[in-house]
Amino acid sequence: MGAKFEIGRIAGLPIFIDVSFIVLVVLWGGQYFTSGSTVLMSMGFLLVVGLTASILIHELAHAVTGHYLGVRPSHVELNGFGGLCYWAGAMPSQAWRRIAIALVGPLANFALYYVFEQLTELSAVQSNRFVLQVTAYLAVANWYFGLFNLFPAFPLDGGRALEALLGTVLSPTTAKLIVGVLGLIAAAYLAYLGLSGSIWLLVVAVMLGLANYDAVQSARRPPWQRWN
Ligand SMILES: [Zn+2]
Repeated sequence: MGAKFEIGRIAGLPIFIDVSFIVLVVLWGGQYFTSGSTVLMSMGFLLVVGLTASILIHELAHAVTGHYLGVRPSHVELNGFGGLCYWAGAMPSQAWRRIAIALVGPLANFALYYVFEQLTELSAVQSNRFVLQVTAYLAVANWYFGLFNLFPAFPLDGGRALEALLGTVLSPTTAKLIVGVLGLIAAAYLAYLGLSGSIWLLVVAVMLGLANYDAVQSARRPPWQRWN
């Protein structure tokens, strides 16, 4: 995407922030930051920190699993659509390894959902409306983030896992074509949801649509013309 800068390293792995990440910060915290109330502004700050940490944990789950299953992560990027883990080499050839590397991302979010959900049950948390609201919000956000990433579409984790799974019984081209078509349907569904007023959902739908249209086109092209 746009310009990005390194914000630090975790166990030697560089973490970058792309400027498009500002879109997410505004989306998550905008209404709190402009509320004029100190309480709401600090709530917005905590939500932005909590959601950023959730995305980072999702990407680190990919990176760590990849590291142990045979592909070295090169860096992690936080951007306007969440984040991405980049790899220094080719993905492992065994399907189960690629499936595991893909699925640990959403799994990390479901684990975070469980942790935040358990926190909301604590009486110390329940007696404090402010803390209760933040933890409940982070629980729900992680649940939906995990679900969204399981969509069978490129370049989401669900699409990558399904492509690897289908590739065990079908040719790589057919596997890619099937996920691409499912991805176009998923994009159309998100666009339909976005029409009710979410510009961000519409943008995500367009990005998903383009990525999956590309995948379908490249799968249909003869192998010597294939470039992705
Ligand atoms: Zn992921």
